[in-house]
Amino acid sequence: MNKLPGQNGIAIWLFGLSGAGKSTIAILLERMLAERGIFSIRLDGDELRDGVNKGLGFSDDDRSENIRRTAEIARLLTGNNVITICSLITPLGRHRKIARDILGDKIFEVFVDCPLEVCANRDVKGLYKKAKAQMIEKFTGFDSSFEKPDIPTFTISTQGSKVEECASAIIESLISRIRIPLLPLADGDESVMLSACI
Ligand code: ADP
Repeated sequence: MNKLPGQNGIAIWLFGLSGAGKSTIAILLERMLAERGIFSIRLDGDELRDGVNKGLGFSDDDRSENIRRTAEIARLLTGNNVITICSLITPLGRHRKIARDILGDKIFEVFVDCPLEVCANRDVKGLYKKAKAQMIEKFTGFDSSFEKPDIPTFTISTQGSKVEECASAIIESLISRIRIPLLPLADGDESVMLSACI
């Protein structure tokens, strides 16, 4: 199979509490990359739960399976040079390890950090209100745990910062970590590496 030319694949794995800003940042990242001619695909936890992960709930086993399937899809995509932006709560250290084990050096983990109270005030999807009213179970931060990373992890705080700043910080960090090869020149014997084209 022909791989997507002109870029290297990586999975940008955004994790954090519900309402922390994962999806918002993912959408902007996709747009900023597209403006630079980089093709990316978003794998959003909520959207995947409507389709490929339909039927999975929020028990520890189901969350693990949700992450495993998503990471496997990301592995196929990154293997074909697609930048894959994954936004899933991925609450526990062992969940993050599942993704890391599947993706190896193709994962760039980003902790989208925001205090629970701020997420609850944002309450974008009305889920915090429901959790407080005990209308939903196993809600992360209430009756289901979230573990902050205990290993050095690229972290962005979305409290009091602009979405644009957060997305730019991720892109800037990627510049130093991945190199995006330009297409070989016409005679085929030279290829130029450009590390700062995103
Ligand atoms: P998640 O995908 O993590 O559940 P969402 O992206 O759906 O969260 O919602 C995050 C909310 O926080 C949005 O309403 C967004 O506009 C707001 N927000 C405020 N500041 C930021 C920021 N710096 N980055 C991302 N989102 C932010």
